[in-house]
Amino acid sequence: MERPWYKNVVIYAVNVRTFQDSNGDGWGDLPGLTSRLDYLRELGITCLWVQPFYCSPFKDNGYDIADYYRIDERFGTFDDLADLLAQAHARNIRVVLDLVMNHTSDEHPWFLASARDPNARFRDYYVWAAAPQPVPPGQRTIFPGVTSGVWSYNQTADAYYYHRFYAFQPELHCLHPEVRQEILKVLDFWLAFGVDGFRIDAASHMIEHKGTSTKTVRRDHTLLKQIYQLVENRRAAPFLLAEADVQLEHLDSYFGAGDEMTLLLNFLLSEYLFLAFATQEVAALERLLSHLPERSQHTQWANFLRNLDELDLERLTEADRQKVYAAFAPQPTMRAYERGIRRRLAPMLDGDRQRLELAWSLLFALPGVPIINYGDEIGMGDDLALPERDAVRTPMQWDASANAGFSSAPADQLVHPLISSGRFDYHTVNVQAQAGKPDSFLTWMQRLIALRHEHPELGWCEPQVLECDDPHVLAHLCRWQDRTLLLAHNLADQQRQPMLTLPDWPQAKVTPIFGAQEHSFEDGHLALTLPPYGYMWLRLTASEK
Ligand code: MG
Repeated sequence: MERPWYKNVVIYAVNVRTFQDSNGDGWGDLPGLTSRLDYLRELGITCLWVQPFYCSPFKDNGYDIADYYRIDERFGTFDDLADLLAQAHARNIRVVLDLVMNHTSDEHPWFLASARDPNARFRDYYVWAAAPQPVPPGQRTIFPGVTSGVWSYNQTADAYYYHRFYAFQPELHCLHPEVRQEILKVLDFWLAFGVDGFRIDAASHMIEHKGTSTKTVRRDHTLLKQIYQLVENRRAAPFLLAEADVQLEHLDSYFGAGDEMTLLLNFLLSEYLFLAFATQEVAALERLLSHLPERSQHTQWANFLRNLDELDLERLTEADRQKVYAAFAPQPTMRAYERGIRRRLAPMLDGDRQRLELAWSLLFALPGVPIINYGDEIGMGDDLALPERDAVRTPMQWDASANAGFSSAPADQLVHPLISSGRFDYHTVNVQAQAGKPDSFLTWMQRLIALRHEHPELGWCEPQVLECDDPHVLAHLCRWQDRTLLLAHNLADQQRQPMLTLPDWPQAKVTPIFGAQEHSFEDGHLALTLPPYGYMWLRLTASEK
């Protein structure tokens, strides 16, 4: 396979419902998203991750689907989707959709039929039991504190069904041969529209043997291989981005032998980034980087700071998690599910421009492709008055007009209220206030994204973490073909002057290309001066002295 496109993209995650409303009904929709493609192109986005627009009761932001083959009419029509795809492709923006088939809505006809008749062909699409089964540790509800168990009683069936997520999301028995065929049919249906790939929701849960009481989770990867085969038959470079929030030692299995998922959401990286931001020290992050499985020529990490959900800190030790809480979620209301934080990035970093730049510069410098959660490019805030993860799903802030330019509906008909007070008030934090302003955060993000496109080595290299005499500074090299970048990030709130040793570079020409500039290089020793939360990108080229 020739260099797949997804090794070097900048992904923008968009919740259609809260991005742009085109018809004044208070819901963001597909024509609204299409109308903002020029904004995304100018930002430098090359791939859109479009979150669910399928028919759904919307009890979980559309991740509770009642019909996989229909677009909820509040989002628009098939023609609107075709138009989005055509217009995005005309701007060299790829479009990938969410595949949410670990569970359905409890209003899905499959589930209704399954509950009605024990002999129906759909009965075994779900996991039923006469009584709740014992639940081994590690297989409890995904939402502790909100949902109590993983077995719920269904009156029609007079039986219990299994659900790791909310009770209104019964688990599909994804290892069942007929369910697998349904999954492949759904993929094929949307591929026919011309979509470029999929984000596979809850991939690690899809392939579990569900509802068993065995102590260890058993997984069967056959389904992921079938998904790969199908998409690979239709697309030269199958973009399959898995949500597999699993332990480090299991991550590699999702890449398979290059015949399963081609990208993995890098949950571990986001946890260790926030630990590093909280402690201002880089040792734990360096250890993680040295242990992450290597990528092949066609597999990739998808790195993110924040996403549509809570910041999940499940894989940190309790002591480390408490450090992150203390720094970024001191109030219990800022936390969720006994493991995470339901805040956006900018409020967590106190709206501090230097810290925001450091966080994004580091994310873009690490091996993989970056994901930007909509609104983070302008430093949007959150609304903790909204329940659970809706706190980070308020409407996009386009300008200072009524409803921030998101919708012309009366304010009380918006899908979620806008942030209209405090530091992240849409009257001050919005696209229009920042677009085209040389010193704005949005303009800085645009520069960072352009820089990422100019340096494909960031997508291809295996990083080499450099020995550094300063515990607050992460310095790494990125080498690919004849290109070498040196990237240094100071996590501390004070100036640092690390000395780096570059044994392979006794002589070199050192050119600063981004961030701080002050450095001196002599005989393979590079001395840097990094301001508080400073960062420096340098190009190294061989030179004869
Ligand atoms: Mg609308």
